[in-house]
Amino acid sequence: MVKGSEERVINSGVKWQVSRSAICWSDVTGRNHSSVIPIRICFFLSEIVRVCSNGRVMKRALIVWGGWDGHKPKEGADLFAGWLRTQDFEVEVSDTLDSYLDAEKLGSLSLIVPMWTMGTITKEQSEGLREAVKDGVGLAGYHGTMADSFRDNTDYQFMTGGQWVAHPDNIIDYTVNITDHDDPITRGLRDFSMHSEQYYMHTDPSNQVLATTTLVDRSTDWVNGTVMPVVWKRRYGQGRVFYSSLGHVPDDFKVPEAMEIQRRGMLWAAR
Ligand SMILES: [Zn+2]
Repeated sequence: MVKGSEERVINSGVKWQVSRSAICWSDVTGRNHSSVIPIRICFFLSEIVRVCSNGRVMKRALIVWGGWDGHKPKEGADLFAGWLRTQDFEVEVSDTLDSYLDAEKLGSLSLIVPMWTMGTITKEQSEGLREAVKDGVGLAGYHGTMADSFRDNTDYQFMTGGQWVAHPDNIIDYTVNITDHDDPITRGLRDFSMHSEQYYMHTDPSNQVLATTTLVDRSTDWVNGTVMPVVWKRRYGQGRVFYSSLGHVPDDFKVPEAMEIQRRGMLWAAR
């Protein structure tokens, strides 16, 4: 299998591989053939192979996980990769920010799911990610894995629409209030309870907020009564950006509303 290639079986057992510089195939007798062709034609053919082999257009998603392990990013990546695959996404799961350096690959995506708490990102990696979203790739994520990622990178925060700053009293019981009952991401959902971190964030006024939480009886009493956005969506260039502050650990998504919001948000963000 050529690295980075698509392998598909189309009719009569003929196997195709389309790499960046060649198309290879084996016929029904098992004989191998190959032909070097220009990169643009390779890309075009790989798209045809992708569509024909499934009878429908598959969307592509990239999940990039890493950073602070307390948020169990690998478990989160496995959880949502599995679900996206049930929604006809081809999903690549990566544990390196260098995935943001491949502009051609990023341009072929429908959705990027960032799962990286804290850490640092290089100028080139950050630009690669942001340019892809500006050009129309969707971005959807949750909790600190999307909005406490690279604390010194304000360009990244300008894209996500918020940055975590505190979770007063750590794991507590709190209520999430659905504030937009018409939006497809929150339509039909009722207010619900969480037992987790209640995120206190610095958020972008241009966010379209779909759900909030109110801080009550916190030891940081000067913020009591504050209504804090929990779920929002926004645009960044041509890209759709979705965020929910729920999901401190993957088990938080056992709360049905938290999971439903995340799933709907990912589908909404994907182009
Ligand atoms: Zn957390």
